[in-house]
Amino acid sequence: MREYKLYLNGKFIDAEGRKLFSGINPHNQEVIASFAQGSAGDVSKAVTAARNAFDNGPWPTMSREDRSALVKAISDRINENSKMLVELEVLDSGSTIRKAKEDVYLSARNLAQFAKLGLQDLNDPLDGASRAGFSRNLLLREPIGVVGAIIPFNFPLKMAIWKLGPALLAGNTVVLKPSEDTSVTAMELANMIDAVGLPPGVVNIITGYGHEAGAALANHPLVDKVAFTGSTATGQSIMQAAAGTLKKLTLECGGKSANIVLEDADMPMAVDGALYAIFYHQGQCCEAGSRLLLPESRADEFVDQLIQKAQRMKVGDPMNTATDIGPVVSKKQHDRVMSFIEKGKKEGATLRTGGKKPSSEECANGYYIEPTIFDHVDNTSTIAQEEIFGPVLSVIRYKTIEDAVRLANESSYGLAGGVWSKDAEKAMSVARKLRAGTVWINEWHLLNERAPFGGYKQSGIGREFGLDGLKEYTESKHVHIDEIGSREKKAWYDTVVPK
Ligand code: NAD
Repeated sequence: MREYKLYLNGKFIDAEGRKLFSGINPHNQEVIASFAQGSAGDVSKAVTAARNAFDNGPWPTMSREDRSALVKAISDRINENSKMLVELEVLDSGSTIRKAKEDVYLSARNLAQFAKLGLQDLNDPLDGASRAGFSRNLLLREPIGVVGAIIPFNFPLKMAIWKLGPALLAGNTVVLKPSEDTSVTAMELANMIDAVGLPPGVVNIITGYGHEAGAALANHPLVDKVAFTGSTATGQSIMQAAAGTLKKLTLECGGKSANIVLEDADMPMAVDGALYAIFYHQGQCCEAGSRLLLPESRADEFVDQLIQKAQRMKVGDPMNTATDIGPVVSKKQHDRVMSFIEKGKKEGATLRTGGKKPSSEECANGYYIEPTIFDHVDNTSTIAQEEIFGPVLSVIRYKTIEDAVRLANESSYGLAGGVWSKDAEKAMSVARKLRAGTVWINEWHLLNERAPFGGYKQSGIGREFGLDGLKEYTESKHVHIDEIGSREKKAWYDTVVPK
């Protein structure tokens, strides 16, 4: 069993009172790791270390090139250790091995791309604002300070990278709190960060529970910004905690994204795309295509094809490369998803496939749920409005395209959306009408490090990725340099100062 300590001020240390908690393999419920259970006191020590590294250390003023090189070195370590990281991610999170390979590869690639982005000079001479003989104006982009980064369970390594990369490249120092359900790869990342030689206190990683370590981080007066990814409910309590000292915030929260198939869509591609949109990582993706909007004229045929393929998906041990669907992350998540399935049945949707734990021996001790499809779902019902975060698809039928757009937007969320059509212009006109931060046309899930990602409405505040994402970790400072140079020509002083 692996044992992990807190990573604080460049050292691996026990939590106060030596408290521990366990990491559980969702495939068989075996304990695979023990973690130090960070308390509010441990968080405070980590924030103090990060504060000191920011206020007195070299990191914020280091050249962009030097910071970028160190971040790139972490990316190289991830690549060198990819086999180990993939295996640990599977054991810890229940991710299928095929997805975990992609995640580790993308974590290294995302970080390398951030490192390149971090070379850009974000300062701006503000030429348009300057006037010779009057003033020169500059916009300086400066780091915000200490960032508290709080991340969810679903993409443990990738989420850590998405926070650390831009925060560090902009010159901030960080206290990262991984999810209590999936902390293993964040702690392996701590080993790699330590090995590349970042100055002590620049990155601190505190494992622990949300209500304890997470809340302490969101509340701490010396934290300047909280960068959060997780559920909308937790995002709301973080926003309240941050209000006390008016911390800067980015919130990447939940979704209930609508996937709209138009009548003229390429059906084989749209069927597989719809399955990929919802069942990738057991539906535990913020951007999952969890509402499928089908035109009445083609819905029967489409749903039949979905069911045939869903029933062919192999549910089982995520370490097996043939597995399509692994377990969900925890008993809590399993019970939550099952309760939504019961609610769907009670509210009158038609359960067409799945809806229970698979009967195979392989799945007996794990948190497994069959890929589940409900048809004839009412868009106002619970399973169409609430984020289930499991392998459950709600099919909603529509009459006209206007209808489909209205249904898609009738949601408190606005993270993503999709349109399937052979007519590029028609698809684009639907894409424009969707109130969502990312829209795919004939695709799903693919993100781009150079394009911003984030949510409208209650899916979040702010963006990750691209220059927009990097700027979220900066303060803007306007410097006005006088070029007049004479009291006599400054008539505005006369409004208060006697001549
Ligand atoms: P969660 O909100 O339960 O937990 C997220 C993190 O917040 C964890 O580290 C947890 O310990 C911590 N936390 C919990 N309570 C806290 C509190 N009171 N104060 C401070 N921290 C606290 O979410 P989860 O179940 O781990 O992840 C699933 C959710 O994440 C889904 O809603 C999903 O949509 C969302 N998500 C969003 C994105 C995105 O980019 N928009 C990406 C991935 C996941």
